[in-house]
Amino acid sequence: MAHYHQILDRRCWIFDLDGTLTLAVHDFAAIRETLGMADSDLDILGFLASLPAAEAATKHARLMAIEYELAAKTAAAPGAERLLDLLSRRGAQVGILTRNTREIALHTLEQIGLRQYFTPEAILGRDEAVPKPHPEGITKLLGSWGGTPDEAVMVGDYLFDLQVGRAAGTATIHVDLTGAFRWPELADLEVANLEELAEELRLSMQAFQG
Ligand SMILES: [Mg+2]
Repeated sequence: MAHYHQILDRRCWIFDLDGTLTLAVHDFAAIRETLGMADSDLDILGFLASLPAAEAATKHARLMAIEYELAAKTAAAPGAERLLDLLSRRGAQVGILTRNTREIALHTLEQIGLRQYFTPEAILGRDEAVPKPHPEGITKLLGSWGGTPDEAVMVGDYLFDLQVGRAAGTATIHVDLTGAFRWPELADLEVANLEELAEELRLSMQAFQG
């Protein structure tokens, strides 16, 4: 496991969006029910991909409508703005890797006041890369930044975020508001919220300046 400072000091930061930079509002059980997949063991994107084209298109449209409703209800996670501000002052590259679409991610960032921290090209949704936990999205972002996995951190609230970091060879930071930290073997750092992570980053920047 990399040393604490060796993680916080990295220059390429990739974030999950829903439940990480935003407060969690997705009730995935209700979404699965609405899409008629209550009995399916597949994840939502896997389920949609398994359907005949016409049905998949209808349900994709329904999913997009649900995502827009959710974007209107969400808020930035406490500490998100402070963390992004510190990273931008330090000149770090920041991006988002989401299983949502880029369009909804941009809309959500606008809603929660964090849009200015990200260029559209640094937001990869399910149409720009094979969805997490496949590492393609991270590989693409690092390629565009001229970065390597050992310069990068993946930050997220769910299993796929930690798995994708491991698959791509980055450090991983698990943000878990419940404090349960269910996947310790996949997380290099565990924080209860982004406020805590921002404070750790501030202290680490101070230590290296002084
Ligand atoms: Mg998430």
